[in-house]
Amino acid sequence: MKKILLLVLDGAADRRTTALKGQTPLEFARTPSLDKIASASIAGWFYPREDFLGASTDLTHFMMLGYSPEEYPGRSILEAMALGLEVKKQVLYLSVLIAASKSKENELYVKREEISFKEKETIELFNAVSYYCTGFYEFRLHHQKGRYGILEINGPFGEGPLDTDPFKDNYPIINPYSSGLGFRDGLLADALKKYLRWAFEKLAKHPVNRERVDRGEFPLDILVTKWPSFIRTAPTPFADLTKMKGAIIAEQSFFNGLSILLGLKFIKNDKKDPESKTRFAIKKAENLLFSEDFDFVLVNIKDADEASHTKNPLKKAEVIEMIDKGLSEIFQTKILDTDHCVFCVVSDHPTPSEGNLIHSGEPTPLIIHSFNFGSDECKRFTEAETARGNLSKLHSSQLMPVLLNAADRIAYSGSRTSVFKSIGFPAPDQIQKINLREV
Ligand SMILES: [Zn+2]
Repeated sequence: MKKILLLVLDGAADRRTTALKGQTPLEFARTPSLDKIASASIAGWFYPREDFLGASTDLTHFMMLGYSPEEYPGRSILEAMALGLEVKKQVLYLSVLIAASKSKENELYVKREEISFKEKETIELFNAVSYYCTGFYEFRLHHQKGRYGILEINGPFGEGPLDTDPFKDNYPIINPYSSGLGFRDGLLADALKKYLRWAFEKLAKHPVNRERVDRGEFPLDILVTKWPSFIRTAPTPFADLTKMKGAIIAEQSFFNGLSILLGLKFIKNDKKDPESKTRFAIKKAENLLFSEDFDFVLVNIKDADEASHTKNPLKKAEVIEMIDKGLSEIFQTKILDTDHCVFCVVSDHPTPSEGNLIHSGEPTPLIIHSFNFGSDECKRFTEAETARGNLSKLHSSQLMPVLLNAADRIAYSGSRTSVFKSIGFPAPDQIQKINLREV
């Protein structure tokens, strides 16, 4: 059985851009490390979602780890877990952003981007609206970092209210209530509106905001909410599902929550630039796989996605080149030794660096470097090249079984070795034994 390293280049996939004369940032960037690995790999076209909606990083990673979307509790739960909250069943969690209001002809609009603030200010403002109670509902707001927080709601709910966060500047705040919601979510949406109005009134009058306005800065006076999350059924631990001991190396806090939820080890990547982040992650992954007893490591490098959100294709190409430089570290490791390891590189979703989309939903590049699958004609990790690869189409929920196949770890569908749904073949020490000599 071989080890597996899954490297996710977050949002690296893109479309043709006018700024790069019709090329995508992956095509435009000089990427000798990725080119060398792609030439020795099999390539495919990765489908983050079957319905082609703009894919989110968190759900795509959950599915890439072998889980179905029905088991996913939602990103706010992962953030709550990373924050150290004790996540309870029958409690709803929402992610919160504190933003500025702008009024235009008696209507309020959201200003959410490019607002300067001090951490001290947001802590004070979150504290001012940290508890509220109305009817059947209790609201508790916890500050995370910067302008972000988690809202814990105790009371009846169904699937949760609509998002109030429009995700864009100069958009109105969305009403969390719709007549299409069920009875409990209707009650909840009304209670949430009351809380948001109460919070708006308190925040607008808060001394921190008065001082901000006096200084000519935007007041941080509105809370916008999104991603209703609650525990549906506890997902099978990763070790039981795949029969692998796993770890995640990443930067964002929700990966810590995902690790807690699924029983993986989390290592925070706090290196500063894309090159050193990638170098650190590759070295650390080799250590976990070959010096410690880990079987699987997922590495997420966020920088290409962040560069895309600045809507600057050239900057994104430069970031990809820096990641590629850091990736050269891999040639000093055992990760490309196909007798011992399977290495996969994928982009979890496209982030268009031109136009107004947040994330889009078309397929992305994927390569797998392994002895079992060999290589094909693909020479580069780009959208057009990998689309012609022998692996053809691969859905996010199929990735883990394919990697388990490449690593000689896939379960045999005709056998039943555990009560858990398992897609991995157990090692001898993972089998529950009987002693036939026992009387
Ligand atoms: Zn993004």
